[in-house]
Amino acid sequence: MDLCIRPIGRVDGDVVSFLRDTLRKVFGCCKVLIPMEVPMDAYDPIRNQFESTKILFKLTPLCEVVLGVTEVDLYADGLNFVFGEAEVGGNRAIISLHRLRPEFYGEKPDIDLLKLRALKEAMHEIGHVLGLLHCNDPKCVMHFSNSIIDTDLKDWKFCERCRSILKRKGIELNL
Ligand SMILES: [Zn+2]
Ligand SMILES: [Zn+2]
Repeated sequence: MDLCIRPIGRVDGDVVSFLRDTLRKVFGCCKVLIPMEVPMDAYDPIRNQFESTKILFKLTPLCEVVLGVTEVDLYADGLNFVFGEAEVGGNRAIISLHRLRPEFYGEKPDIDLLKLRALKEAMHEIGHVLGLLHCNDPKCVMHFSNSIIDTDLKDWKFCERCRSILKRKGIELNL
């Protein structure tokens, strides 16, 4: 699968390299594109957050699946925040590291935990791009995360059921 990561603004290089290496193992291919600037027209000064959907639509679909990764805090229509967003069955997805950092919750920095959380959110949004919807299995990466607790509870992989849906679409994973 032709998968690319597009950093949006300044993004932790360790996390981007980790995502690239892991996603490459899972999907067979993953490259990192040159970063794009954070689109300031997506900024809401009252909320001090960026509108996720606006940034998502600014991602150029340069690959079959483009995953935007940003550090800025994202929100979407009717939601206080989002960890990420995707075009179900489309080409584009975005994740934010902002609320994945333990510091956000008053805990001490933990790069390994941050990487694992970022991988879960990346797999989740890529799953949506590949046509998967939310899964009832709380351990499945396609389970909806309402809070960081849900993210920490789930695995970074697709469950058997989600994997078989992908297989029927001809998407074979190395998991
Ligand atoms: Zn979702
Ligand atoms: Zn599942």
